[in-house]
Amino acid sequence: MTDKEYAKQKARIKKIIEKWHDVFELGQWDIVFYWTRVLNEDNPRVKAQVKGDWQYRHCTMELFLPMFEDNDDIEAERTIIHELTHVLLLPMAAKLDDDGADNHEYTCVSLTRAIIRAYQTSIDVQRHGK
Ligand SMILES: [Zn+2]
Repeated sequence: MTDKEYAKQKARIKKIIEKWHDVFELGQWDIVFYWTRVLNEDNPRVKAQVKGDWQYRHCTMELFLPMFEDNDDIEAERTIIHELTHVLLLPMAAKLDDDGADNHEYTCVSLTRAIIRAYQTSIDVQRHGK
């Protein structure tokens, strides 16, 4: 990933995060973002990962920017919303076994879909008054 590609993806994803950070009411969280230009070593299909100490409302979000290059803004936004659900659900992610981790992931996927649908419905109502 060149410096130019890195800067382009970082700026694009940062803008999406700023949009959704307030919607998720994460102002009391201390989220440290790590922008990487390489793929995740353990799983090269991972776009981002959230880890942290929810007790202190502190977490990190590592973003593997090469994974976003082929995503349009809608797909990138879906990923960011998904990761932000992980932030909110960090207290439920502590000490999970494999089954629990799958349940947790399912919950984040389902919430992401619901949030996107609600957001889209809200836009439709604003545009068309339905
Ligand atoms: Zn996830």
